[in-house]
Amino acid sequence: MSLSVAIIGAGASGFYTAKALFDQGVDCTVDMIEKFPSPYGLIRYGIAPDHPYTDGVIKSFEKVAANERFEFFGNVSVGRDISLLELRALYDVVVLAIGAPADSKPSLINDRVEGIYGAAEFVGWYTGHPEFRDLFSAIGTKGVAVIGNGNVALDIARILGRTRAELSKTDMPGYAVDMIASSRLKNIYVLGRRGPLDAKFSGPTLRELLGLEKCEPVVDAEVLPDELPDDLSPQALRTAKRNLKIFSSFTDPTNDLNKRQIHFCFNAIPMEILGKDKVEGIRIQQGVVDRGQARGLGTYRDIRCGMVIAAVGYRVIPLEGVPICANRGMVLNEDGIVADNLMVVGWAKRGPTGLIGSNRADGEHAARQIAKNYTSGEMPGRERFKYHLSARGVRWVSNEDWKTINAAEIAGAPADAPRRKFISVEEMLSAASADRNEEAQELEAVG
Ligand SMILES: Cc1cc2nc3c(=O)[nH]c(=O)nc-3n(C[C@H](O)[C@H](O)[C@H](O)COP(=O)(O)OP(=O)(O)OC[C@H]3O[C@@H](n4cnc5c(N)ncnc54)[C@H](O)[C@@H]3O)c2cc1C
Repeated sequence: MSLSVAIIGAGASGFYTAKALFDQGVDCTVDMIEKFPSPYGLIRYGIAPDHPYTDGVIKSFEKVAANERFEFFGNVSVGRDISLLELRALYDVVVLAIGAPADSKPSLINDRVEGIYGAAEFVGWYTGHPEFRDLFSAIGTKGVAVIGNGNVALDIARILGRTRAELSKTDMPGYAVDMIASSRLKNIYVLGRRGPLDAKFSGPTLRELLGLEKCEPVVDAEVLPDELPDDLSPQALRTAKRNLKIFSSFTDPTNDLNKRQIHFCFNAIPMEILGKDKVEGIRIQQGVVDRGQARGLGTYRDIRCGMVIAAVGYRVIPLEGVPICANRGMVLNEDGIVADNLMVVGWAKRGPTGLIGSNRADGEHAARQIAKNYTSGEMPGRERFKYHLSARGVRWVSNEDWKTINAAEIAGAPADAPRRKFISVEEMLSAASADRNEEAQELEAVG
């Protein structure tokens, strides 16, 4: 009998695992279980809407989903609709591809006041993630501080600097376009605990800031070192040289009052949120990098802002019975093995780093391990799983349903935009059902 494989999570790592199982000719069926009606995880709800370069990867995942041995079960949340223990009793192998969707937040004095968000929440808000639609009702501030010196912080700063015309060409939901474009926002502060040489920004994403219509990046020339340390590896040296060159091009802003500005604040250690009920500012301590660690110098500066977004990392949301390595935000595993018939891939396996393509090797490795460790299928698998869902009244979304939802989103796109995303789960389900009802009516009419 074929192996029955359940993959929990329809993000990049889940799809790369399914693809590798099929490509390697493993005799198996694959059921992909996803808590949202839509597949693709952070590709849909993470990657910045103004970076729509994922068509190729989505096409290859669509091919995986079209394989006759594959079935998609969207709108099924493991832990809510079925437990992990139950799944492990139904399938020969269960693969956790659940990502690391929760925010790690820095611990700051007075960080309970209103107006502090994590990157997962804020990015979820501007990408139309069903859980973050109502995160806030306005960006009523001239200043936003973004904590973090990686590409996610840069995505957030850039998106906040974009104009209505720029954002309207993307699939960003209308509410987010309106709020960003019509806000009185002037200053976006990107705070890094370390210096410019330590920033993890990628070159092209940094350079892109020079092309924004009504926003300019700003760096104080005095913070840029004249000389590079001599202990850098050749690759670190190349990156440092490239980033320094780009930062140098940010040192002569026009200061045009019609433009927003993205200020890079280096050696700025966030200490305390200012404000009684709402954020009114952030206090930072001036620091230096000492043996690779940021160390405070005891001098402080306050930055006025009404919103703080912490882009300092992500962590896995634990599922019952799954061991977690809390300080790395990932599932405890040995080379991808968590327990008997339980494996893990992607961000949940490695922690929250790496691009979409970084998950491919994980999927391929997991497929080889599955082929090696499990030879023939013994568990009841798909039909029994469907029986469980039906008995519990779970309305799952099939791949055909998703295609209907996808087509409706594309058909509903405003001029210039690639799609209009449905924001709520209910909207997605009713788009899928509308098509089902139409089909039923047509059959009746024919009958
Ligand atoms: C803000 C941001 C921007 C990024 N931009 C880029 C970029 O421009 N280019 C690039 O290459 N990479 C980018 N990345 C990285 C890329 O998104 C990740 O490498 C990749 O998405 C990780 O894939 P994954 O499958 O491990 O996790 P995810 O993509 O998070 O997928 C996990 C899936 O599991 C589902 N799930 C979780 N729990 C359950 C459950 N209990 N039951 C059912 N389903 C569940 C989730 O809903 C989700 O669909 C970005 C990441 C972030 C955070």
